[in-house]
Amino acid sequence: MNCCNEKPIIELTAGEKLCKQHFTEYFENKVFKTITKFDLIGKEENLGVAVSGGKDSLTLLNILNKLSKQNPKIKLTAIAINEGIEGYRDKSLITAQNFCDKLNIKLNIYSYEKEFGMPLDNMLKVLDVKPCTICGIFRRYLLNKKSKELGFTKLATGHNLDDECQSIMMNQFKNNIHSSARLGPKVGINENKNFVQRIKPLYLCTEKEVTTYAFVNNILDNFIECPNIGKSYRAQIRDMLNDFEAKFPGTKYSIVNSFLQILPDLKQRFKDAEVNYCSNCNEPASKDKCNACKYVEKLNKAKNKPLIKIK
Ligand code: SF4
Ligand SMILES: [Zn+2]
Ligand SMILES: [Zn+2]
Repeated sequence: MNCCNEKPIIELTAGEKLCKQHFTEYFENKVFKTITKFDLIGKEENLGVAVSGGKDSLTLLNILNKLSKQNPKIKLTAIAINEGIEGYRDKSLITAQNFCDKLNIKLNIYSYEKEFGMPLDNMLKVLDVKPCTICGIFRRYLLNKKSKELGFTKLATGHNLDDECQSIMMNQFKNNIHSSARLGPKVGINENKNFVQRIKPLYLCTEKEVTTYAFVNNILDNFIECPNIGKSYRAQIRDMLNDFEAKFPGTKYSIVNSFLQILPDLKQRFKDAEVNYCSNCNEPASKDKCNACKYVEKLNKAKNKPLIKIK
């Protein structure tokens, strides 16, 4: 069924075909409804937005900018991490900077090179580790630490329904249910002042919807992917889910919707798990030292230098 006489640009999972204007309205309303439904953003916030220069994060920034214009007590600041991936992140950060300039939003960029001693490309030359494992640990670490320093009340990320679906399945396949308890539109299990609350306003938007929104609204005109993504477990799960979705439309929604039904019980089950603090940097850790400090130690050993204290 078509929305009006205009040419449709997308067919939704339920079969409805929407033109550019009706799709844009549908998509933005969906994000605003997600924010209300899961109580993601309060009336007054110093909201950080994690941007990478990709379609998800710039779409998120564009919509949150509209929200902030209507609610001036919601202040936005962008934050980006430069992992040091040549030919990829250098380019996407230029896109991010240009977009932030256009919206007049300040962008703070932090790099692995400055914070951890070397760019990711070099880390992968001295350590035998999967790129996304070390990259993800360092990114989460820096985002939390810098969000605290910048005084963010919350940090919004561009994770969409496909990302969440992949995480749920990865945790199932790896018997990692404790990690699943941390998922959801509001990340984490308990409120903890050492963790800046992460929120996912695009939680119910599919990758296809986000991509369409970004392109038809001229947010992004090119698409570059990290050269390391193909080596990740996530990419295999992504391809499997895409195959399934093509054969059985609605699979991804079903996975996330059924997960949302059990999520409160999961969070309840793990709510008493103890949080330790890293003896080196004082950031939250599951053991005596946080994973970021453990990797910095390994990097320094690999370089034959003493441990850098991350303050
Ligand atoms: S795909 Fe992996 S290596 Fe590339 S930016 Fe993402 S987490 Fe880092
Ligand atoms: Zn229409
Ligand atoms: Zn640490």
